[in-house]
Amino acid sequence: MTAAVLDERTVGEIVDRAARPDFDRWAEQLERCGHCSRPVRLRGRITRAGHEVYSTDGEPDRVLLKRCGNRRAAVCPSCSYEYAGDMWQLLYAGVAGGRKGVPESVRAHPLVFATLTAPGFGVVHGTRSTRGGGAGRCRPPRGRPTLCRHGRPSWCTAVHTDEDPRLGQPLCLDCYDYSGHVAFNWHSPELWRRFTITLRRVLARRAGLTPAEHARRCRLSFVKVAEFQRRGVVHFHALIRLDGPGDGVTPPEVPTSTADLSDAIREAAAAVRFAVDLPDGSGLALRFGEQTDTQPVNGGPAGELTPERVAAYIAKYATKSAEDFGLGDRRLTGAALAGHGVSPHVALIVRTCWRLGEHDDWTGLRRWVHMAGFRGHFSSKSRRYSTTLGAIRGERRTFRRRQAAEHARQLGLDVIDDDTTLVVSRWEFAGLGYLTGGDAALALSAAARARERRQAGRDAVEDLPPPGVSIVDRKVFYTVTEAAELLSVSRRKLYDLMTTGRLESVKLDGCRRIPADALVTFADSLPRRAA
Ligand SMILES: [Zn+2]
Ligand SMILES: [Zn+2]
Ligand SMILES: [Zn+2]
Repeated sequence: MTAAVLDERTVGEIVDRAARPDFDRWAEQLERCGHCSRPVRLRGRITRAGHEVYSTDGEPDRVLLKRCGNRRAAVCPSCSYEYAGDMWQLLYAGVAGGRKGVPESVRAHPLVFATLTAPGFGVVHGTRSTRGGGAGRCRPPRGRPTLCRHGRPSWCTAVHTDEDPRLGQPLCLDCYDYSGHVAFNWHSPELWRRFTITLRRVLARRAGLTPAEHARRCRLSFVKVAEFQRRGVVHFHALIRLDGPGDGVTPPEVPTSTADLSDAIREAAAAVRFAVDLPDGSGLALRFGEQTDTQPVNGGPAGELTPERVAAYIAKYATKSAEDFGLGDRRLTGAALAGHGVSPHVALIVRTCWRLGEHDDWTGLRRWVHMAGFRGHFSSKSRRYSTTLGAIRGERRTFRRRQAAEHARQLGLDVIDDDTTLVVSRWEFAGLGYLTGGDAALALSAAARARERRQAGRDAVEDLPPPGVSIVDRKVFYTVTEAAELLSVSRRKLYDLMTTGRLESVKLDGCRRIPADALVTFADSLPRRAA
């Protein structure tokens, strides 16, 4: 950040902020909310056993800043970065195992990274590479160059750079099938659902079993992320894994190789169809694109696609959204349909959403114009893929609470046991974002510095075992007796902890087992007091 790019007023606001006696406390709040771009401002107080122990009255601007928690990098780089980190943990646990309650044996399960694309709706400008790997021409004419029926060239000999605004734009807007494009986005969640059903059937048939028999021995687990391509259509990146039936993550009881699973995925993606009616009376058979890319993750050629890399790849996509191809992140109103500030292509997508949304069969589409008609979740997973984002966030909160308690102890403060004291907090929403442009500029530069530091740390550990593996992690699961021993409590106390939900456990072949990380999480959740 240099003063040259800031206007005089912003500079004045920065100076004002820095000159305040409570600046250090303000900077601390910034750090605690992770330098969020538009934090929630809260006002409130906490009382313990009837005594007020905290009030925002003593804070800078009499508010407490809390993360916005937005997933999208375009909205909040800091919260998006944290979200991507959580996604990484979730994805990695399901690929590599040995953490978050997933056994390391999961590495032996068939696992495929698949990309399901949308079909073509018309020729668009794109980057191509030559056989030698250099930058190739967009669409060289095949044979004699011809014009489309609107009199426009059906070829393009330009070599587009990555920043070229023409990328993803149709060669002819009139030739492009906008109804098909919007219909695909709108119905893609249903198309995916049908794909998973078809895949189960294909796997059963290949194994010579009925779908019901196959389902009793084999379970499909997956996590998928939707990504907007430059042309404004979604496609899906998914990790698809085969497990055994029942609770926990056990090997599938039908022998299936990773290559078999890849073949089945391609067959199912090619076969799935979904018929929709368009308002003009014509029908449309929605399907996925011709090319379904499948890559084995574990068990493939060594070094091809490591669990670390595939988790990083998918987590990155989870932070992107429709604004990346020119639409804002807010719901559009009729007035925004005029097409201001967007390309003619995006304007036509928007208008098509609006036009289709008028008809009964397409009710609700107008509320998803800002997503080019895509209404699905940007990331979703089957129930037993690995852990949940909620559980990962819970662990982080516990970790931070422990750090805060540690900090308080170092300052000689008494840490009160939350279990035995009545704690009442009252909070009210005081606003969103920073109070001045100067505050926002300060937060932005601090955020960039913090991210650089963290990225440096993340790069350094990329190919090492993931952090946070403690000595207790030698086994993935412990028996009740072992866990009681590790926690130095009786077996009876341990059962108490499990039945009251304070300690997580799993059923494995009918036996209660305690995942190693559940022990760590439990230990971390206990309030600590200096002797
Ligand atoms: Zn944020
Ligand atoms: Zn081109
Ligand atoms: Zn045309």
